[in-house]
Amino acid sequence: MTEITYDIAIIGGGIVGLATANALLNTKPSLRLILLEAEDRYAAHQTGHNSGVIHSGLYYKPGSLKAQYCVEGRDAMYRFCAEQGIRHERCGKIVVATQEAEFPRLEELYRRGEANGLKGLRWLKGDEIREYEPHASGLRGLHVPDTGIVDYKGVASRLARLAQDRGCRMMVASRVVGVKKNDGGLVLETYANEVRCRALVNCGGLQSDRVARMCGVDPGVRIVPFRGEYYELIPSRQSLVKNLIYPVPDPSFPFLGVHFTRMIEGGVEAGPNAVLAFKREGYNKTDIRVRDLVDTLGYPGFWKMAGRFWKTGMGEMWRSFSKHAFVKALQRLLPELRPEDVVASGSGVRAQAMDPSGKLLDDFHVVRAPRMIHVLNAPSPAATSSLRIGAAIAEMAAQHFAEMR
Ligand SMILES: Cc1cc2nc3c(=O)[nH]c(=O)nc-3n(C[C@H](O)[C@H](O)[C@H](O)COP(=O)(O)OP(=O)(O)OC[C@H]3O[C@@H](n4cnc5c(N)ncnc54)[C@H](O)[C@@H]3O)c2cc1C
Repeated sequence: MTEITYDIAIIGGGIVGLATANALLNTKPSLRLILLEAEDRYAAHQTGHNSGVIHSGLYYKPGSLKAQYCVEGRDAMYRFCAEQGIRHERCGKIVVATQEAEFPRLEELYRRGEANGLKGLRWLKGDEIREYEPHASGLRGLHVPDTGIVDYKGVASRLARLAQDRGCRMMVASRVVGVKKNDGGLVLETYANEVRCRALVNCGGLQSDRVARMCGVDPGVRIVPFRGEYYELIPSRQSLVKNLIYPVPDPSFPFLGVHFTRMIEGGVEAGPNAVLAFKREGYNKTDIRVRDLVDTLGYPGFWKMAGRFWKTGMGEMWRSFSKHAFVKALQRLLPELRPEDVVASGSGVRAQAMDPSGKLLDDFHVVRAPRMIHVLNAPSPAATSSLRIGAAIAEMAAQHFAEMR
């Protein structure tokens, strides 16, 4: 008989995997838990390449998991940061309509915000926008006081330390490359060794659909990577932005539009756009991985999506190659901004699940299989929501995995 070493293995040391480790230990402190991360550090991908915004819950369809987990996760994140002494600020943000055509969508955001329980939303007339952001311009705006900023890499490294202190075995540089079933459990293969466990939770982000398939589970979706590129304001022009300035997003697209974000460590970022990445972890325009490209282009859903969004997609591509076009989009919010005020900064790649009909999944998506839980769509606001997502996975594990009893 095979010796079982761990009750549960978590694949992925991003913020969702790390929050899940802590939530499982909250539910059952004696759990024999292991977390395997492919890279040599935690938060190497989405968690370490995002805007650092603690989202309020404004955007999401009432009743959706995103709406519930974002609002509850946001409060949990503020509490966690306060308890752990992690620097953060509940600085608020404004969403600005620059054309009358955007008014109905801004009103819909207000309705969603109210339905999701946001407090203190305030309508702004054109001149009132300047009370919050003296250099911003728009016809109408919405002030959202519950939005904040934090460094999610810092949050992730604290979650990793807490999990380790509570007995979770933490293995970095341990990519899971195979999963075998044996009597009574699973064997996870890395390049260096084998890990035996009774159950697993897949929090593999950009690789989560492949990890599911490696486990013999049809994920039902394909991860399509969308790169988001940032510029940053040069130091002498950072005073143009006090906190966060967002446009009214296009509701048919799951991204928020290029915006300004003050970062908790200082500086102001502008972006991110959303362009198809030719490599799942492709942070540069020229990064290509044939396997990733074939996976995307060979998926029937991709062409259906491309047919629907080609115009938006072309605009995003154009903004990716033309600084002038990127700045033009930003100038709608901040007319004083000049191209020489910004310099290219980093980028991140979003793991966005798509179904075979070409629909980009709007909500968080988790699939269960015997002895397994697979997190298959955890894009923004999953960093904000991570503690709540972790708690939900622990609840699911308590019902689903005998090891939790
Ligand atoms: C540009 C951008 C901006 C964003 N802005 C925000 C924001 O402001 N606020 C917000 O709330 N959210 C934001 N998000 C979303 C947020 O960053 C993600 O939703 C969140 O980080 C997802 O966390 P994760 O743990 O699921 O994924 P990841 O952080 O990607 O972690 C997955 C981990 O799994 C590991 N892994 C993969 N395969 C294997 C394997 N086979 N074996 C072992 N390990 C494996 C990877 O190395 C990785 O570390 C943004 C995302 C992007 C890309």
